[in-house]
Amino acid sequence: MSERYHYTTCPPQRGVFCNRTLNLRSIRAIGYDMDYTLVQYDSAIWEELAYNHVKEFFLAKNWPVGDLKFDAQTVTRGLIMDIELGNLVKANRFGFIKRAVHGTAPMPWEEQRKTYARTVVELSERRWVFMNTLFSLSEGCLFAQLVDLLDRQLLPGVMGYEELYRQLRAALDSIHAEGKLKAEILASPDRFVVKDPDVVTALLDQKHAGKKLLLITNSEWTYTVPMMAAAFDPFLPGGGWRDLFDVVIVGARKPEFFTTKSPLFEVVTEEGLLKPTVTGLRENAVFLGGSAANIEQYLGVSGYEILYVGDHMFGDVHVTKDVLRWRTALILRELEDEIREVRAFGETEDRLGSMMRQKDDLEAEACAIRLSVQRRREKYVPVPDDQPPIEQLTARLAEIRATLDQLDLEIAPIARAANNVFNNNWGPIMRAGNDKSHLAYQMERYADIYTSRVSNLMYVTPFAFLRAPRGSLPHDPTAPGGKMDTTSKDNPIT
Ligand code: IMP
Ligand code: MG
Repeated sequence: MSERYHYTTCPPQRGVFCNRTLNLRSIRAIGYDMDYTLVQYDSAIWEELAYNHVKEFFLAKNWPVGDLKFDAQTVTRGLIMDIELGNLVKANRFGFIKRAVHGTAPMPWEEQRKTYARTVVELSERRWVFMNTLFSLSEGCLFAQLVDLLDRQLLPGVMGYEELYRQLRAALDSIHAEGKLKAEILASPDRFVVKDPDVVTALLDQKHAGKKLLLITNSEWTYTVPMMAAAFDPFLPGGGWRDLFDVVIVGARKPEFFTTKSPLFEVVTEEGLLKPTVTGLRENAVFLGGSAANIEQYLGVSGYEILYVGDHMFGDVHVTKDVLRWRTALILRELEDEIREVRAFGETEDRLGSMMRQKDDLEAEACAIRLSVQRRREKYVPVPDDQPPIEQLTARLAEIRATLDQLDLEIAPIARAANNVFNNNWGPIMRAGNDKSHLAYQMERYADIYTSRVSNLMYVTPFAFLRAPRGSLPHDPTAPGGKMDTTSKDNPIT
């Protein structure tokens, strides 16, 4: 067979992207998070329900939230709440703030500059709350709307934005923990779960390739069983989801699971009855609590042979990489829409790139003219004889300025559109203006690989050697759009 063999073809938006080289053959065990990782939810529906439950909670406290509505477009994963000032911000990879809203109102540019010119987002400070997961959408949307109410002095007794945030956090924790929200989901899982038969195939591929599979979720047993059954069992005729996993750990309390030793319990009945255990994990059993140390001891393998796959930037991949040096994969469901939309915008982006290069060239010429005129007027260095007359240069300068004004008029709407791809209010999750977003920065740092869903691993197979692309720097000859981009016909290197 001389043609290249493909078992299946992977659509571009479902690629598995690699930050640090990962040889899947040397991975002996793969741990999976459940919510928004193995089990995908329709986040607009799930988050609207969570939002409505928190709303009920505040209504019971007589807060005037009755008219508020969940709007999935208000926020995206990766935004940061500034709980000191009641703002939502988007930062670039350096932590500089590129966009901000106060409550739900966009901040005028000048005010944003004044507020944040000297500020660098440092996520370890309590002022900043990073939106780590799709579960943050209801939180971010409500925070913005409640800030509006607080500004109008409609929340008596709330002493400021920070206290408002603490109350919101407590409300969210309680609605996730108490039974009503989960009971509603359990009553009709099919309304919430986005089914994907390929996720079952991907896990079967891995299991048959000799990998140990683990489920490590913060969800409780009574929620885990019906959700996993809804997502997996229709595609596992003759078996159930439990057969796929060597060990199941519920109520894991990540991120502490990865950093702190906690007591381990065995779940001994289908109703979730617990029994303390001192003998550690064992095959085909279900546990609650415990810690990563139990996993490493049970598997008898080192951290670099374990891959953990999750959707929560902090709880699933940050500490896992930082503390344990496990290999990590981040699941970002939004990536599919973002890649699709960025690709659709590709031609316009090329046009924008070409106009920016033209602008760069003209600006460089204008600078050279100004310098030539300055040197000749001030006579502080000898000027070569072959320079054109000053009048000719100033005329050329005027011409350049007119062309630049015209170019700016054409560039502005395209640049605005490029900044609003994916989300009208915030633009793409991975970019902040021309730079990488703070989300992209963290993702590069803590996730060895990233992809939109677990089933994409099926396309790369359990045997793949995933290589990171060579990182680029502005001085590289091939940096796209860079000063030395020799591939661009508008910018030939001579
Ligand atoms: P995992 O992603 O499978 O580890 O589980 C996520 C669990 O955490 C789900 O049961 C969620 O309901 C729960 N959860 C998500 N966000 C919050 C929160 O803000 N407070 C408390 N629990 C949460
Ligand atoms: Mg999760």
